[in-house]
Amino acid sequence: MTISKNCVVSIDYVVKDADGTLLESSEGDDLSFIHGMGVLVPGLEEDMEGKETGFEIKKTLGPDEAFGRRDEALVLEVSKEEFENPEDVEVGLAFQAEIGDDIRFCTVIQIEGDKVVVDANHPFADKTLQFEVKVKTVREASEEELEHGHVHGTEGHHDDH
Ligand code: ZN
Repeated sequence: MTISKNCVVSIDYVVKDADGTLLESSEGDDLSFIHGMGVLVPGLEEDMEGKETGFEIKKTLGPDEAFGRRDEALVLEVSKEEFENPEDVEVGLAFQAEIGDDIRFCTVIQIEGDKVVVDANHPFADKTLQFEVKVKTVREASEEELEHGHVHGTEGHHDDH
């Protein structure tokens, strides 16, 4: 089938910086997502539309089409108690958190006593990036997946929500 809104798409991907240095890759452990929900960077989502298994694309994207621009307002000070496991909080800890309406990628950049400084800018913000994407599978999303807004794996690692 071809990719359209509300399909579950699995891809292999490689992300390099403008100089070609490898930053991130799926390393065979594919990324699955519901198409049309903004999981892929804006500059790639449209390219997926109507494509099928085997489709490959290489594309260089500026920050506005990739992970956006740095916003200093997204450097936040929070209390250690707000973390689920306050004793595990350390500089470099990366996690995802809901900020405003967005799920954002966050990194702890400083700790002073009970105060934790978190940078909620994506680590690839401001970067021009080279993307290589290959579509592995395309299937229809289940009703449950659409309701939850995310893909359910085959290993049942789905916590109750
Ligand atoms: Zn779910």
